[in-house]
Amino acid sequence: MTLTPISVVCPQCGSGDVLYSCKPECCYNHVCNHCYTTFELETIRVGEVTESFEIPPDPDSGAPTAPCARCHEPRVFAMGDVGPPPQFVCAACKALLTLGYTEIAPG
Ligand SMILES: [Zn+2]
Ligand SMILES: [Zn+2]
Repeated sequence: MTLTPISVVCPQCGSGDVLYSCKPECCYNHVCNHCYTTFELETIRVGEVTESFEIPPDPDSGAPTAPCARCHEPRVFAMGDVGPPPQFVCAACKALLTLGYTEIAPG
């Protein structure tokens, strides 16, 4: 199983030009560079990953980042070889997750 960095599109305009504008110690506010909508990412735990996987490096600062619903570590990655719908996994605790938007504020 291959894990890849999360990629998201703006929930308002669909642009992929989305920047994570804060730090995990603070919040998960993202901003769209196209329409300036802001939103946060959240995860919901839907199961447990039993397959082994290589722990990828932490995401770049500025890359879309979401907290694990269970352990709250900002180390959520997409499972590269499943979906649609895409599924996500926490590299820290192996929770199987889905990704959603919250706090959407159109720009
Ligand atoms: Zn947008
Ligand atoms: Zn976790």
